[in-house]
Amino acid sequence: MFQISGEVFRASGMKIKILIIPVFFSCLLIWSVMDLPFSNNKLLDATINGSREPDTPRDKLIGGLLTADFNESSCLSRYHQSLFYRKPSPYKPSEYLVSKLRRYEILHKRCGPDTKAYKEATKNLGNDEIYVGECRYIVWLAGYGLGNRMLTIASVFLYALLTERIILVDNRKDVSDLFCEPFPGTSWLLPLDFPLMNYTYRYNKEYSRCYGTMLSNKAINSTSVLPHLYLHILHDSRDHDKMFFCQNDQSLIDKVPWLIVKANVYFAPSLWLNQDFQRELVELFPQKETVFHHLARYLFHPTNQVWAMVTSYYNAHLSRADERLGIQIRVFRNDAGYFQHIMDQVVSCTQREKLLPELATQEKSKVNISISPKLKAVLVVSLYPEYSERLKNMFWRRETSTRETIKVYQPSGERVQQTDKKLHDQKALAEMYLLSLTDNIVTSARSTFGYVSYSLGGLKPWLLYQPTDLITPDPPCVRSMSMEPCFLTPPSHGCDADWGTNSGKIVPFVRHCEDLMYGGLKLYDGL
Ligand code: GDP
Repeated sequence: MFQISGEVFRASGMKIKILIIPVFFSCLLIWSVMDLPFSNNKLLDATINGSREPDTPRDKLIGGLLTADFNESSCLSRYHQSLFYRKPSPYKPSEYLVSKLRRYEILHKRCGPDTKAYKEATKNLGNDEIYVGECRYIVWLAGYGLGNRMLTIASVFLYALLTERIILVDNRKDVSDLFCEPFPGTSWLLPLDFPLMNYTYRYNKEYSRCYGTMLSNKAINSTSVLPHLYLHILHDSRDHDKMFFCQNDQSLIDKVPWLIVKANVYFAPSLWLNQDFQRELVELFPQKETVFHHLARYLFHPTNQVWAMVTSYYNAHLSRADERLGIQIRVFRNDAGYFQHIMDQVVSCTQREKLLPELATQEKSKVNISISPKLKAVLVVSLYPEYSERLKNMFWRRETSTRETIKVYQPSGERVQQTDKKLHDQKALAEMYLLSLTDNIVTSARSTFGYVSYSLGGLKPWLLYQPTDLITPDPPCVRSMSMEPCFLTPPSHGCDADWGTNSGKIVPFVRHCEDLMYGGLKLYDGL
């Protein structure tokens, strides 16, 4: 369900009303007509028709991060985000990053699907024959939740940039229902007839071409010639899998034309531990904590369907607020749902950090308000609708100590994760974008959904510690010093003689994540 103005939208009920046009566009039409105030409808129309509001002189190319070579209407979110919805980011992309991206786009156009080079590179791949040509590739295989997917696509793309490979993404799930193409005049989708496609289901740690396995079996060395390699960069990667990040290993891997990756962790921080990569990374990202922020704004552009969900909800509920607070509540338990100790934690964190006001003793009707109070919109995002309902009730009757008016909204309450179901994933993506449009954000520890939302928005979050048992943590949350996502399961060692050395101490700007008790690495500035 996707909730608008207190009404709950149920897809099954809508089918009765909509016979000809697809369910999705029907929903949007009905939302925009029924729920949005007139002035907001105008903004929505302007957005959908691709016209520009006259008083918003914004930089639609985000300091050159985006190319101007796309047709605007095919993917409204690409240019409209910065034109109409986002405050200009205080973080500017470096000139070096901008030029690197333009060069990458040329390379992708030359090597991407349907090119002579791609045909050459795949011709004998199924027969395990080595291909020697100008193009080398890295294939991203889809797995895990959407947050994990976005973090790993960005990590794989960064690796592709550094090593001059072409990224191709597995579209057997719903990537193209979620995101527009990021590179002009070509496609980032791995063609469905990719020769190894049917084998990829079996790729795991035991697979004989898994890099970590080959390394531990001493089956790979500097003389090895391999047509493809599988990289296993998941939470259960072994030390040998994690050697992938190291300089010496990279010189072996560099020669392999096809790399195929399964990943569920944001591994970009580990690339900084490799001296060869580090030199270029410093030029690409002089502000180190902007890696995901820039890459996400470059790579991810919600499709028109998803963008219409974002804009219609934003215009209906968030646009008129003086301030917007985002709260993402992810419950990592087998019996996940509503828990009072988590609700208490959210209230305790937001009040302690002055993100939400305390309640005054008076009831609302007894207070004489002479000036128009400040309106704060609170966007709650969770699988469980009870969290926003409780918060709404809290501010419903009582005046606040600051006299602010607090309005609480929650777009959906899906209850169960349904990854790979198109509409479910589209709602999840829409909610990440809505969160990223808030002014302050509170997210749950360890959640990649939260990581994507705050980093995309350029926001340093307040992270809710993960509760143990049924106890509200004290303190309930911590302000992150960085807007980068956390690499949840990094190598616990360096590359050479320093096995056992905690990599958090090797490079000054890579530090442990605040939201984890142990492990976890993150890029920071200003240390
Ligand atoms: P993580 O598990 O918190 O790291 O985040 P992921 O995004 O990788 O996986 C969780 C998945 O569960 C999401 O992608 C959604 O499919 C679903 N989900 C979790 N929380 C929410 C939520 O607040 N809203 C919606 N719409 N879906 C959610």
